[in-house]
Amino acid sequence: MTPQEIRNRLEFFRDLGIRELWVDRAAAPASAPPPPVAEHTPMPKPPANPIPLIPLAPEGDTLAAIQADIGDCRRCKLCEQRNRIVFGSGNPEARLVFVGEGPGADEDAQGLPFVGRAGQLLTQMIDNTMSKEGMTERRADMYICNVVKCRPPENRTPEPEEMEICGQFLYRQLMAIRPKAICCLGATAAKALLNTGVGVMKMRGNWYKWRDIPVIVTYHPSYLLRPYNQNAKREAWEDLKKVFHFVYGGK
Ligand code: SF4
Repeated sequence: MTPQEIRNRLEFFRDLGIRELWVDRAAAPASAPPPPVAEHTPMPKPPANPIPLIPLAPEGDTLAAIQADIGDCRRCKLCEQRNRIVFGSGNPEARLVFVGEGPGADEDAQGLPFVGRAGQLLTQMIDNTMSKEGMTERRADMYICNVVKCRPPENRTPEPEEMEICGQFLYRQLMAIRPKAICCLGATAAKALLNTGVGVMKMRGNWYKWRDIPVIVTYHPSYLLRPYNQNAKREAWEDLKKVFHFVYGGK
């Protein structure tokens, strides 16, 4: 990454309200520092894997502060057709956070995540699984948000640039809540947090990590609404059971 690119990236984070960054040295290539460069020597090419700059939540960050920083956000083109920004909802001290892709029509109209048909299915699945497993928590005890906060036109998949820009708010939300586990609903959420293009079918059932927080990946409930996906529904119940026992089982 060139100094100019680093400067641009820092300005970008500052614009998002992020005032502190740290360098993930574990991810840095384990090579010796380059020798001093003589004047007029052509600059060496940047390394193939530059040290990633990872934004941290500003000290004392809260969901309210993040929402204030979002404001009437126009940082990406998803602002053009949205009616309402869908920030997230639930318990700000949740031990489990669900992350979906982006708001749909109902969410865009109400300003709340997962309130349409897919959201109702998710609520049913959460509440019924908890009750069957003899646990007292319900959807309201958890937190639910999306990778992008504005509805993509025609419910298309968010573009990488939109995910990168809005994803910074998601990362801050997760850092502010610091849940015991995160459940990614669908491939877009998995891509945003785990930087993978692997499909849900292959990822589900295993544990991953976002920073130091355990992550599980399962199907997006809108996928489960399709009548020919009954097998996936059964697998999603299994995934929920697994994450619920991990988070709430050993209280
Ligand atoms: S999707 Fe996110 S970054 Fe884009 S306008 Fe909406 S709130 Fe801003």
